[in-house]
Amino acid sequence: MKITDVLSKRDRGFSFEFFPPKSIEGKEDFMGVVGTLAARGPVYVSVTYGAGGSTRDRTRNALLWITEETDLAVMSHLTCIGAERAELEDLLGDYKRFGVDNILALRGDPPKDMYDFRPSGEFRYALDLVRFVREVGDFSVAVACYPEGHQESPSLQKDIEYTRMKVDAGADFAITQMFFDNRYYYDFLDRARKAGITVPIFPGIMPVTDFEKIRKFAGFCHATIPPKLEELFAPALGDPEESMKLGVHYAVSQCEDLLGNGVRYLHFYTLNKSDAVLKILDGLSPHFT
Ligand code: FAD
Repeated sequence: MKITDVLSKRDRGFSFEFFPPKSIEGKEDFMGVVGTLAARGPVYVSVTYGAGGSTRDRTRNALLWITEETDLAVMSHLTCIGAERAELEDLLGDYKRFGVDNILALRGDPPKDMYDFRPSGEFRYALDLVRFVREVGDFSVAVACYPEGHQESPSLQKDIEYTRMKVDAGADFAITQMFFDNRYYYDFLDRARKAGITVPIFPGIMPVTDFEKIRKFAGFCHATIPPKLEELFAPALGDPEESMKLGVHYAVSQCEDLLGNGVRYLHFYTLNKSDAVLKILDGLSPHFT
């Protein structure tokens, strides 16, 4: 099932992102979380893919399980850095057989020790993968975008130009990097629309339930932690119960504001946990009934 077909029938909704379990033994827990969240009726679910193909088989397995056990629209994240054409063709062939009709076309991060990384080979940018996936099969294609700009982009202007190139090459929609101040999203949306990007742009929502962990993660992704978030969590550090309450409250307010300002689809980074996302969706239930 293509996500574009689901979007044409639903004018509001949300999606969930998972990472593949480390081993086959993790299947039961993983599918338990997927099943619990699937009951809320997402537009689609997606599974991440390690740069350089490091989780290729695990991602493929996780997608296969979801297609076998649910009737959800599913999307595979796919990175192209260091990938070979034949290997990607094989994987896309498997996906078509499983009923995975959607690809999030990504470049992927460079290997950790390559500080002066310069892309090379056939697949240098996500743009090359968007074109390739379009050429190889009948997939719905999404791309990543960055409200605060991608860390390697020379400027916000260039960042938008490159995003526009990915969309012009055939991306049906885009999903943002996490952000914790909606002004980044609104400014990005404004720049994107002015640049002629008309596809839906799903805001990526990261529930903050473990502040220190998310702060570290946000650092890797160059997502700003605003002072108000820092202040909110300061009294709750080391208190998981209170942190959960605050994180849910913050995410509900963030999503309420987005939905109140015309956003129709939300993308949740679940980190393979259902509790916080379920509570957030409960808080947003008037918007999705
Ligand atoms: P690109 O769009 O190729 O951009 C990479 C950089 O190159 C940017 O700085 C851009 O401005 C620049 N650029 C683009 N085109 C050109 C051009 N023509 N000329 C010069 N410069 C150019 N990573 C994973 O490994 N696995 C995942 O599953 C995964 N899922 C993600 C999901 C989402 C929603 C998001 C937002 C990110 C995800 N990432 C994932 C992270 C992503 O792989 C990294 O951010 C990566 O560094 C960039 O990928 P991209 O597809 O945005 O690259």
